[in-house]
Amino acid sequence: MSTRQSRTLIIENGSTCCAECKKAIAPAGTSWKSGAALSRTKVIDIPGSTSSTHPDVEIRHFSCPACGALLDSETALPEDPFLDDILTNK
Ligand SMILES: [Zn+2]
Repeated sequence: MSTRQSRTLIIENGSTCCAECKKAIAPAGTSWKSGAALSRTKVIDIPGSTSSTHPDVEIRHFSCPACGALLDSETALPEDPFLDDILTNK
């Protein structure tokens, strides 16, 4: 049995899984982002960014390590921890 938690993630058999390919990313109830594939891009390097953007600000893309589907993204400074995103089946 699976429960859809968001457009990109489901809970299945006690794990947070990719909604596309059902790959288990992390145990349900734990922060899943550390189990995802991470890529970082400096916002200042993105065409259209302005000089008012702090040069250290980055966009983090969290993707499925199996199929590459984009699961989530966040904007942060490099030293910031991941924004906790914990899914439970409750
Ligand atoms: Zn996947």
